[in-house]
Amino acid sequence: MTTEQARPTKPHHVVIVGAGFGGLECALRLAGAPVSITLIDRRNHHLFQPLLYQVATASLATSEIAWPIRYLLRGRPDVTTLFATVSGVDAQNKRVLFDDGDALSYDTLVLATGARHAYFGHDEWEPFAPGLKTLEDATTLRRRILVAFERAEREGDSSRRAALLTFVIVGAGPTGVELAGTIAELAQDTLPPDFRNIDTQKARVVLIEAGPRVLAGFADDLSAYAQASLESIGVEVILGQAVTECSADGVVYGGHTLQARTLIWAAGVRASPAAEWLGAAADRAGRLQVLPDLTVPGHSDIFAIGDTVEIADADGKPVPGIAPAAKQQGRYVAALIKARLHGEALAPFRYRHAGSLAQIGKRKAVIEFGSIKLRGTIAWWMWGIAHIYFLIGLRNRLSVALSWLWIHARDQRAARLITQGSSKVVG
Ligand SMILES: Cc1cc2nc3c(=O)[nH]c(=O)nc-3n(C[C@H](O)[C@H](O)[C@H](O)COP(=O)(O)OP(=O)(O)OC[C@H]3O[C@@H](n4cnc5c(N)ncnc54)[C@H](O)[C@@H]3O)c2cc1C
Repeated sequence: MTTEQARPTKPHHVVIVGAGFGGLECALRLAGAPVSITLIDRRNHHLFQPLLYQVATASLATSEIAWPIRYLLRGRPDVTTLFATVSGVDAQNKRVLFDDGDALSYDTLVLATGARHAYFGHDEWEPFAPGLKTLEDATTLRRRILVAFERAEREGDSSRRAALLTFVIVGAGPTGVELAGTIAELAQDTLPPDFRNIDTQKARVVLIEAGPRVLAGFADDLSAYAQASLESIGVEVILGQAVTECSADGVVYGGHTLQARTLIWAAGVRASPAAEWLGAAADRAGRLQVLPDLTVPGHSDIFAIGDTVEIADADGKPVPGIAPAAKQQGRYVAALIKARLHGEALAPFRYRHAGSLAQIGKRKAVIEFGSIKLRGTIAWWMWGIAHIYFLIGLRNRLSVALSWLWIHARDQRAARLITQGSSKVVG
């Protein structure tokens, strides 16, 4: 049986591609509407990306930040979940195309396919400097970080040992800052008693940023605070230098070569190919340019939301690629679909910024909410409470809270597992 034959038979069929923050919110908010919904994702889980770096740094386990999509929607008989990869849209015949040649008809389509990291035209750097977007990315990084310490433990040559104990993060946005702070703490606080031949406290964590400051999206004083906090836990911050090469040996920036065996890319994003599927206009990062009601120009039955679109807020500034923006858009599209089914219209989408947060190591964070700026331990507590609040389910909230308490009380990170044997690991 094809996907088309298996398709629910209710009158209006909404197909949502992507069960990330935007797509899942749209499906949840369509509850009670006279529609049948098919939610398609190429992964079987919804992922809480803001805490991915904690999986990459062995602080949390994968199951603490991801949930099977099917399980999340088990109480919604109106939603069919499909584990499949969409490869195009046949807008003329109102069909979503799958990579295996299958297709599925829609009445209304919502594209919520997100973004991935981008290497500014240097995709050949990816094997040496992987980015962080999926659970696989996070476990790959975790393996590389932990393996670097393991190899250093039995490396006799001092320069090779130094390269193994050098960790370079490219890009000092929130993800780069959070990764750098946590890797530094892993080396400073968690690992020292476990090794005999190396002093993990001598590991170098180097954060390289092409722009003039870390956390460029925050106010100047908060980014200065973040930089000082990183430096206080041993992170070397290099600003105003673009990386011009990544290889198995390390990075080149500003004409310098830095020998390092672990590189992490946190510098740029590229939207999913949703704009290409429709032949629609896109910005330089591939983000589809949608109309104020989040429909694709020329296609009133196709919406696009979240990281895969470009849209301006009421002040004309681009809506940021963050989870609350994707969720607000998912909520708006659900409301508009419902309104249309009742023959009504809605005012254009309006983004409301709920604030920006970033953690810098285990007891510090920065928060900016309009004119309110917080830093230090109080900001860290608020950061922690906000993230626990947004996790799904009591079990995960308790589990993450307990993992964090353990890290604070004992400096222990429970998820320090290398899930391949020593002869198989990469890095
Ligand atoms: C490491 C990291 C840290 C972040 N930290 C924060 C933070 O602290 N705060 C914050 O607000 N935001 C943060 N973000 C950004 C936030 O996660 C995104 O803005 C948000 O996920 C966007 O939601 P979305 O629904 O557009 O896309 P996503 O949540 O990325 O969901 C897209 C979904 O589409 C699926 N998909 C993609 N292509 C296909 C296809 N062809 N076929 C089928 N399915 C497909 C994907 O599998 C995925 O499930 C972070 C992002 C990353 C990567």
